[in-house]
Amino acid sequence: SERLYDHQRDEISRIFGCPVANGYGGRDAGFIAHQCPQGSMHLTAEDILVEIVDKDGNALPNGTAGEVVVTHLATSEFPFIRYRTGDVAILSDAKCACGRGLPMLEEIQGRTTDFVMATDGTIMHGLALVYPIRDIPGIAAFKVVQETLERVMVHIIPEESCGQQVETLISQGIKARLGQTVNVQVLRVDDIPKEKSGKYRYVQSLIMEN
Ligand SMILES: [Zn+2]
Repeated sequence: SERLYDHQRDEISRIFGCPVANGYGGRDAGFIAHQCPQGSMHLTAEDILVEIVDKDGNALPNGTAGEVVVTHLATSEFPFIRYRTGDVAILSDAKCACGRGLPMLEEIQGRTTDFVMATDGTIMHGLALVYPIRDIPGIAAFKVVQETLERVMVHIIPEESCGQQVETLISQGIKARLGQTVNVQVLRVDDIPKEKSGKYRYVQSLIMEN
């Protein structure tokens, strides 16, 4: 339905509205990366250490999405040691055409709260769960809550045409992305409350918010 496409656009614009324009920094951690004329986000690596970590704080290899954690030893006030920014990105060791040798931050993908985690530990954007549900006919609105790695709750507001196969289709779509062992509960409801901000949030992961 049209509403679902609207929310998708909202979500995408919100993601790309992230601080990617000229520089990237945490609210408190100062500038972490600067954009060069080629458009790459180079880490300001002379005085900060940027790590991409998993949920437990373990450093992830380049090319893998995780939370941006910053250690900044040269601040005049007090050092940041493994400061968790709440942002999700990928580190790249690709060489940029501008010739700067500094490592690059690829794909500042959004906030950790925009993400879900598969049973194998893969972090993916919540939109990965939006797409399969959006394409099922008969659903006026929905909300996905990842309660644990093994349990996902989906509230749907059914349209009149909402058939009995909808629950199965939702379950299949979510399992295909998060893992076949995930227990998916679908509940038909009359209303889905908005966030305090007044916005709908279509996917929420209690794991990523911890
Ligand atoms: Zn460059």
